[in-house]
Amino acid sequence: MAALLLTGGRVVDPANRLDAKNDVLISNGKIAAIGPEAAKQAPRDTERIDVSGRVVCPGLIDLHVHLREPGQTTKENIATGTAAAARGGFTSVVCMPNTSPAIDNAGTVALIHERAIRQGVVNVFVAGAITKNIAGEELAPIGGLKRAGVVAITDDGHCVQNNELMRRALEYAKMFDLPVMDHCQDYSLVTDGVMHEGRWNIVLGLRGWPAAGEEMIVARDILLAELTGARVHCQHLSAAGSVQLVRDAKRRGVPVSAEACPHHFTLTDAAVAGSTRFWANDGKELAGFQNGELPEWPAYDTNFKMNPPLRSAADREAILAGLADGTIEILCSDHAPHCDYEKEVEFDYAPFGITGLETGLALSLMQLYHSKRLGLSDLIAKYTINPARLLKLNKGTLSVGADADVTVFDPDREWDFKCAETASKSSNSPFFGWKLKGRAVTTIVGGKKVFAEQPELAAV
Ligand SMILES: [Zn+2]
Repeated sequence: MAALLLTGGRVVDPANRLDAKNDVLISNGKIAAIGPEAAKQAPRDTERIDVSGRVVCPGLIDLHVHLREPGQTTKENIATGTAAAARGGFTSVVCMPNTSPAIDNAGTVALIHERAIRQGVVNVFVAGAITKNIAGEELAPIGGLKRAGVVAITDDGHCVQNNELMRRALEYAKMFDLPVMDHCQDYSLVTDGVMHEGRWNIVLGLRGWPAAGEEMIVARDILLAELTGARVHCQHLSAAGSVQLVRDAKRRGVPVSAEACPHHFTLTDAAVAGSTRFWANDGKELAGFQNGELPEWPAYDTNFKMNPPLRSAADREAILAGLADGTIEILCSDHAPHCDYEKEVEFDYAPFGITGLETGLALSLMQLYHSKRLGLSDLIAKYTINPARLLKLNKGTLSVGADADVTVFDPDREWDFKCAETASKSSNSPFFGWKLKGRAVTTIVGGKKVFAEQPELAAV
């Protein structure tokens, strides 16, 4: 593999508190040098890429991705899911275990690892299940999952309702030094809700899913983290109350962390009532990015149905505030592909979830960096060193000697997200037709370019 020299970029590596114009030399799959030394040390046959005006940062990590293997490959597979990741600037993903069968045993973990090596274009880490078949009744073999190489356990898509069982899961996880990631959802409160319980579900006549249905389990998890000392990570926070619970718990020193997804801090439940209502109400700030031509969609569009649901403007603001003050230290997509025929049904019957790997970086930049809520380094930390630390991955930094997983992106590039250009097997995104700002231009995994912007896109 030839050496690679990235010249003239703004190198942002939060782990090393580095933010300056620098050259980066990649050799033998590792970061070989940064700074004036890089060009001097570059061997004669080094490929040089001018990245002036671009940001060079550690390869982005998305710790919440549904790759749908095994068993649901009509929606996505390791090849297409990791291609979408590379396109979005991600060099590592963590795949969720709610597959068919569920990733609740060492054999299935080995299967994913094997397929990822053969078919994946980015690093794939595996999250194992908390309970057998994600049924919430009996613990999965947590020690065996750890030995097979899982980086965390979660019943994502589902939530362990039995508090005693969750306590035991946390105790085992602590013994095996694994974080427990939880999809916080109280079934008795949520029942068959399909969207946020607020104003719009009444207008639309859809069953509501109250914010308390999430907050209840966030509070439970905090209490159990305090009781057991295990590391608990609350997935995809959507409600203001959840953010406040995590903020207070962290102040007390409870080992709890949290993540947020771009759709929850970009859209609101008004979007389920259609584009006219969204842009007239909660979408005003975002409209500025659309150059006067606002994307349109009808009411009851199932690409705005996800779990947890889009919430109120106040909840969205609380998520943004939690990201800004560090309460929420991780950004992720909850990339959840579904086939067209599954989504093209009445709102009540559609599956929850949207794709997100290709839009996450842009939406994060728009809502956090371009809106001046967060500096670039703090934003990048939430996609790199912070998830790496939570999962104890030897990733997320550009330190000399580290794996050469590198993302080069243009924070100011304006582009249209087009359905025809997605690398995912599915097209259930609410953001097709949107003008986005910020885009990955080169994605490097282990020193190898796995995505480079097409020349025709450079003109967009
Ligand atoms: Zn989930």
